[in-house]
Amino acid sequence: MNMNIAVAGTGYVGLVAGVCFAEVGHQVMCVDIDKEKVEVMKAGISPIYEDGLEELMQKNNAEGRIDYTTDYQKAYREADAIFIGVGGTPERSDGSADLTYIATVARQIAESVVKDCLVVVKSTVPVGTNDKVEQFIQDFLVNDVKVEVASNPEFLAQGTAVYDTLHAKRIIIGSESTWAEDRLMEIYQPFHLPIVSVNRRSAEMIKYASNDFLALKISYMNDIANLCELVGADIQDVAEGMSYDERIGAKFLNAGIGYGGSCFPKDTKALDYIAKQNGYALDTVKAAIDVNKKQRIMLFTKASKRLITLNGLKVAVLGLTFKPGTDDLREAPSLDNVPLLLEQGGADIYAYDPVGASNFAKVYPEGKNGNGRITYVDQAAEALEDANVCFIFTEWGGEIKAIEPDTYKRLMRTPLIYDGRNIYKVQDMERAGAEYHSIGRQAVM
Ligand code: NAD
Repeated sequence: MNMNIAVAGTGYVGLVAGVCFAEVGHQVMCVDIDKEKVEVMKAGISPIYEDGLEELMQKNNAEGRIDYTTDYQKAYREADAIFIGVGGTPERSDGSADLTYIATVARQIAESVVKDCLVVVKSTVPVGTNDKVEQFIQDFLVNDVKVEVASNPEFLAQGTAVYDTLHAKRIIIGSESTWAEDRLMEIYQPFHLPIVSVNRRSAEMIKYASNDFLALKISYMNDIANLCELVGADIQDVAEGMSYDERIGAKFLNAGIGYGGSCFPKDTKALDYIAKQNGYALDTVKAAIDVNKKQRIMLFTKASKRLITLNGLKVAVLGLTFKPGTDDLREAPSLDNVPLLLEQGGADIYAYDPVGASNFAKVYPEGKNGNGRITYVDQAAEALEDANVCFIFTEWGGEIKAIEPDTYKRLMRTPLIYDGRNIYKVQDMERAGAEYHSIGRQAVM
């Protein structure tokens, strides 16, 4: 049965969920506090870059199954279900989650609903939070209606968010009553996806345990990669050899300059914090955090040892976003390295990213910056022209991975390359006559 669904928050999680709910036939109202964003979405323009999202928005806008508003009362009043996908679960300085945004939505719901309604929390929240959200709503509830809270954590990956939602490997439903479970099952029925139904706290834990396991896998491979360099092994060969073991799996074995994005850094710190609060030392996750911290500046550390100074050198930076396919810069390794290059190095940076440059320029405006300078260019070749050093931070397919090894040799003043994503074969760079440093593989000089 099609339902009236409201979605609070139109970021990567909320907007994609809303559009996909509309696509399978539900009637959806998306709520955001950002007026400008709402206007843009009404006009059929996606405020975020996600493959296929804008087309799907335009189709469902035109067919009248989805609309956007800042008027939360209108949206929540008669909704059968309200999904919460607001951000605002970033870590505070101690690693704990900041639940202010979720609390605001909870209160708005309590003051608005006039009929029985299921509130579904998609945002990643510490175990036990949804019990509190339900209590909070009860405390502020204005009308005599039933409101229950279910947990439905999100597993999409930015860059493939629409595909991941429509073809999710599993839907996790965390509920405390058959009423809540049945309603959520009904909402997801048209997706025809596997559903795992558990209690609310287990659902909340599944999200953290999954993300932190992946972060751990990345940090483990990075740790092994650093050791490979020291003992003369090659991490890519090692990863390939490991990947045939089904117990290990072939994914998340790529070594690089560490994980970033809005989830892994935050969710590892949050679980570490939750463990500490419960008097438990979660040593594995703590190790993943520590390795990642070192790994993110690994290339800068290597370059600082190789060069007397970066001062005044033209430094090409290829890739700024935390991964390809997204314009998101949150916790991107570039955000650790660019300030080091500018402040400690005094570098003259020429940065290229196919979609992330304008967001980056909001943090590091073009021109003189600290002890160095930064210029944003529209083509990778402009960054490489006459450059002394090149850092690769994001493995954008067509735009960066497609650059031929010879191009570095041809365009750069000195073809000295620090590749944080291992996008080239070492032999190809050697053949091209470049000096090539990567992660977990032997450097060629
Ligand atoms: P985001 O920052 O991209 O979007 C959040 C949106 O919520 C913003 O547009 C903001 O304006 C809006 N908002 C804030 N307060 C609001 C309110 N009171 N009413 C309506 N809208 C409000 O966040 P995101 O990346 O989509 O992440 C949301 C949550 O989902 C986080 O908890 C995150 O950990 C989790 N998550 C994210 C991803 C991901 O890949 N980004 C994947 C899985 C889970």
